Order: sequence, then C-alpha cells, then structure tokens
Amino acid sequence: MIEPGAMLGILGGGQLGRLFVMAAHSMGYRVTVLDPARDSPAGRVAERHLCADYLDFVALDELGSTCAGVTTEFENVPADALRYLSKFCLISPDADSVATAQDRVREKKFFTRHGFALAPYLVLDGQRPLIATIDPALFPGILKSSRFGYDGKGQVSVDSPGELRGALIHMNNGGCVLEKRVSLVREISVILARGRDQQTACYPVAENRHVNGILDVSIIPAEIEESIAAQACEIARQVAVQLDYVGILGIEFFLLDNNQLLINEMAPRPHNSGHFTLDACVTSQFEQQVRVLCGLPLGGAGLLRPAVMVNLLGDLWQGDSPPDWRLILDHPDAKLHLYGKQTARHGRKMGHFTVLADTLNAALAKALNIKQALTAVR
Ligand code: ADP
Ligand code: MG
Repeated sequence: MIEPGAMLGILGGGQLGRLFVMAAHSMGYRVTVLDPARDSPAGRVAERHLCADYLDFVALDELGSTCAGVTTEFENVPADALRYLSKFCLISPDADSVATAQDRVREKKFFTRHGFALAPYLVLDGQRPLIATIDPALFPGILKSSRFGYDGKGQVSVDSPGELRGALIHMNNGGCVLEKRVSLVREISVILARGRDQQTACYPVAENRHVNGILDVSIIPAEIEESIAAQACEIARQVAVQLDYVGILGIEFFLLDNNQLLINEMAPRPHNSGHFTLDACVTSQFEQQVRVLCGLPLGGAGLLRPAVMVNLLGDLWQGDSPPDWRLILDHPDAKLHLYGKQTARHGRKMGHFTVLADTLNAALAKALNIKQALTAVR
C-alpha cells in the first residue's frame, strides 16, 4: 500500500489528470505530472511538472525514481513509457492494456478474440483493399483511424463502397477500421474500477448523448432495463478480467433496438461520462484511480442522487469572455467544474456542470434549461 503523503506520478496533464491530482491531494498525496506542454490543466495544480516528452528517458528516470506509483490520464501515451516506468515503481494500468486500448485495430481484435459482441467491422491495414471483395453489409459505415482518434476526430462516413477510396486517402492510407453504422437506440457507458486484489466496483450506467461526435450530456442512471444495466457491468467486468486489468476502465456501448449490447470502445482511464461521480457518488472515479494505484480498498460506487452532466465546450465563449457562470451557480443543486484552460476553442472541453435532483426527470429538465440559457446568450 502506498501511504498518503507519498508522491504519485501521472502521464498527461489534461483535465482528467487535473481531477486525479485534486483527488490525490484531498487524500494527502503529492503528485508529479509529466506532460510535454508547458502549461497544462494538471501541471497547474500538481506539486511538480516535468515538462518533457513521454519517451524522454531522463524525465522517466526522474518520474520513476521519485514516485511510488504512476498512472496515466490518457491512452495515447506510448505504452513503452509505462513499461519502462514499471521497473521503478507501481504502475496502473499496465502497458499492455494501454497498448490494446490505444489502437482500434488491436482493440477490436482483442474483443473479437474473447467473444465480445461488436458492430460488424473490417480491418484495413493501409494496403489498398479490393473494394469488390468487401462485404456490402458494412455500408453505410464509418471509417475510423486506428490511432489517435477522439471526440469523433479521425472518422469519416462512408455511405457506399464507391466512397471508400476517397475516405482512405483522407486517412492518409494509414491503418483503420471500417465499421458498419448500426442503428442504435441509446449509447451507454460503464466505469469500472479493478484493484490489484481483483476486487471490482462498477458505477451506475450512464446514458450518453453526443453532438458532432463529442459527448454533450450524460444521464445517470441510464433509463434502461435493469437487466441490461447489469449486463453492461458484467461485460465490463469480463473485459477487465480478460485484460488482467488494474485501474479505471471506461467502456462505451451501443444499445440496439433488439436490446443487444455492442461494445463500441474502451478507455484505460477515467472517462468523460464518469464525471458525474465527482458530485453524485461517495467515491469519484478519480479518487478510485488514486485508491487502485495506491492499493487502498475501493470506495463505494453507488449513486447518491440522480444526476445529469453537461459538457462545457469552448463554443460557449465569446472571444476571451466566458459564459455568465451565474446561469449555473444560481442553482444550488448544480455544480460547476472548470479545467483552468487558458484558451477556448471550438469543440474544446473547458469544463462541465452536473445537476443533482431527487428524480432523473427533474435533474434532466433543470440541466437542459441551464444548457439552453448558456447557449441562448451567446
Ligand atoms: P471517439 O474515439 O471519437 O469517441 P467513437 O468510435 O466512440 O470515437 O465514435 C464517436 C461517436 O460516433 C459515438 O459515440 C457514436 O455516437 C458515433 N458512432 C461511432 N461508431 C458508430 C457506429 N458503428 N454506428 C453508429 N454510430 C457510431
Ligand atoms: Mg467514443
């Protein structure tokens, strides 16, 4: 067990890292952030910021030799950095799990190998495919790059085989996956924590609404049958077992009209759709990340009250001026979280707010009212 007071390390300095640092601080830990950017949301609040590349071995030596444990806040850190650090100190999640989650092709193959249901897909490895040989049932589809996609970036719609060639050029002919566009009735996600002792804690299932490929609103608990919620948690648990995973795992699902659950993708870290846990659960997903890394018992993951989380994108800013935060703060049951980012850009996640209420409908109505008020004054 890593005792409070110890120095922890985190790869990545974004908002997920910042919320990890804040959770670690509240339990008496200190944190060093490794991030190549001079200014970062997490670097601003941590005790120490190593401003270096993720494969800068001098920086990794320093991080590994001064920290008792290191975790990551984003999946695109080189898995080799984690592998290297594991020689110095405790690491979670492990390098292999991160390598699987950061590469869509490898991730799909992993899920398929272990029998998890996915949308039909075809791996395109950068060679020019013989279009006539591609199963027409994959259209209309979405071409997704294997690496570095997020918030719908690195994806192109491909409505017919004839559009594939152009779409592949758009992807620079790199490795990608052609995925059938499924008609989903809902998108849901599960955040699971799994400790070194193999204990797991599953948060209540969130229902997620996206706009332009970016998460817009999460609703908790998802309005789905209890048996489907239980199934989603069980699938997440099985994925974690197959990966021999230690850490926080976010899994996105598609729910089809025949009630079938398909895995969309996974993230080896806390997830945007789990931000409600900051205000609506005994233990936030970030505190849970601290607990797993430090070998502490997992905290309770139950829901205290129904909650609705709304992302605040840079689109809400007018030039340098932020929205009128009173539109949120005037509501005693709304909680505002800002990530301390200096410049607002279109589509950039600047913060979020969460509304709690006695019923889900009340939380949703209030959250959507606030959201509308924020956009109305733009
Ligand atoms: P990202 O890494 O950007 O989150 P996703 O694969 O999760 O990429 O895709 C982003 C969003 O696009 C999903 O949340 C979903 O709304 C939509 N989407 C992705 N794949 C499919 C699909 N096969 N069928 C229908 N919608 C999809
Ligand atoms: Mg996604």
